[in-house]
Amino acid sequence: MYSTIAPIQGVLDMKKIIFTVFVNIITFFLFALVVGYQVQKSKIGEELVVIESQVKVSENIANPFYEEKPEPVVVAVPMSNIASKGTWTWPTEKPYIITSYYQYRGDGFHNAIDIYSYKGYGSNVYSANNGTVVAASMGCTAGYTSCNSGRGNFIVINHNYDNYYTIYMHLSNINVNVNDSVEAGQIIGKVGNTGNVWPVPNSYNPYGGTHLHFGVFKGNPLSGGSSINPLNLY
Ligand SMILES: [Zn+2]
Repeated sequence: MYSTIAPIQGVLDMKKIIFTVFVNIITFFLFALVVGYQVQKSKIGEELVVIESQVKVSENIANPFYEEKPEPVVVAVPMSNIASKGTWTWPTEKPYIITSYYQYRGDGFHNAIDIYSYKGYGSNVYSANNGTVVAASMGCTAGYTSCNSGRGNFIVINHNYDNYYTIYMHLSNINVNVNDSVEAGQIIGKVGNTGNVWPVPNSYNPYGGTHLHFGVFKGNPLSGGSSINPLNLY
């Protein structure tokens, strides 16, 4: 009986061994498959890292774009003598006092404002906005009240925007010439007391009547422009 059973048991053992080897092979392949997948996955991960660095590179490439951003401002430079609403600059140094408003007074309608800067005679007069100088008339000395029709030394600027013009009267000095391009806040002259000012300056009161007469017009004030209240701009 043993001799017949033993071979059968041996065959069974062989089947068990083959089965075990088969299972191990299957396990190995499954393991290899999983490991291979993990390896592939990590490679995908590496690729993603590369993609990320490429994104960073592209961001670096984008940086010069930011450097180019100021270019529109550069493009705007040729337009610098064109005024823009909302950027009006006060025409005198501060502090100041308005000594005569845009209103009727004893001698008729005062179509401008008179400004006295506490920096006084010779203080800066600024262009109220970007523009082009269309009149710059010197030659008046203090006390000659009818000089330049009472304007004294004066400047007119065309702001090349919505027909805005400004006029600056009674100056002691002028720093610009006709056809000059000027920017908002640029010094164009000095406060003075030339032309028709009160009190009329004399040897006892050489700085009498010092102020800036500042007018804003739609259209050239020397040829039919109509005045507006300068304070509407500020
Ligand atoms: Zn005035």
